[in-house]
Amino acid sequence: MSIRTIGVVGAGAMGTGIAHVAAMSGYNVVLRDIDMKFVDNSLKNMNKFMARSVEKGKMKAEEAKATLDRIKGTVVFEDLANVDFVIEAVIENMDLKKEVFQAVDKLCRPEVVLATNTSSMSITAIAAQTGRPDKVCGMHFFNPAQIMRLVEVIRGLLTSDEAVATAKALAESFGKKTIEVKKDSPGFVVNRIMIPQFVEAARLLQEGVASVEDIDTAVKLGLNYPMGPFELMDYTGIEISYFVMEYFADEFHNSQYAAPQIIKQLVRAGKLGKKTGGGFYSN
Ligand code: NAD
Repeated sequence: MSIRTIGVVGAGAMGTGIAHVAAMSGYNVVLRDIDMKFVDNSLKNMNKFMARSVEKGKMKAEEAKATLDRIKGTVVFEDLANVDFVIEAVIENMDLKKEVFQAVDKLCRPEVVLATNTSSMSITAIAAQTGRPDKVCGMHFFNPAQIMRLVEVIRGLLTSDEAVATAKALAESFGKKTIEVKKDSPGFVVNRIMIPQFVEAARLLQEGVASVEDIDTAVKLGLNYPMGPFELMDYTGIEISYFVMEYFADEFHNSQYAAPQIIKQLVRAGKLGKKTGGGFYSN
């Protein structure tokens, strides 16, 4: 089946980036959220992103317009009925993801591959909500999806080779490099490596070993990372790191992964980083 139209469920930070990169790659996109204010905000952000590219001469104004014209923003779930591939990017909540997969499974043609952009959760558990577990896989983009080059393609227990090949080919047609995660393991590859580093950075801070700024400087200059752990947590939102830490601790039965107090307190205080204000750099 050739893929012409992609359904993106969730128009937040990731849904916006994914829908945008798909439309810039020439696909038609149906972008669905629960409230038109999220859809409008998403389209506005895409427009802003492209206006900068036009200003810098990297994109023509007509291309920017054509890209937006390929995206249908909607709150009507049934608008996803005729898409050829689905990428889910709703919030990181298993109950909600299960609900979304049950619904798209009923709505979309049986041959359509359904992918989730979950950062950490079980692809197998999500796939089990559908009558097509062989056609469900993880497709983990990074933020901002327009710029970050990697997509992790993840197998659930029952995912077919064909579904993996379809997801990989699609991501590559977006100009991304893919890796295959052969087993459905919490956090896949990147977050399995990154989250323990966040936990350790927060512990160093909590123990008074070094400041936020100095830990970030150490990681940037000593490890040659483009961002330090606190900058990155502020950028992506501290709550998501918190959820993944607690999820790892639970899934691996290992309290070494659990969120240190300093992170718990920021989450309880609603100081969640760049998107919502607060975070490590303003506390
Ligand atoms: P977000 O909070 O920015 O956006 C989520 C969106 O989903 C919201 O606009 C919300 O209104 C919408 N939504 C909720 N229920 C819905 C429904 N039933 N139908 C349609 N839309 C619905 O979250 P995000 O940062 O974009 O993360 C989305 C997913 O991507 C999560 O699973 C997250 O773990 C994953 N992820 C996030 C990042 C990141 O850096 N933010 C990176 C990789 C993967």
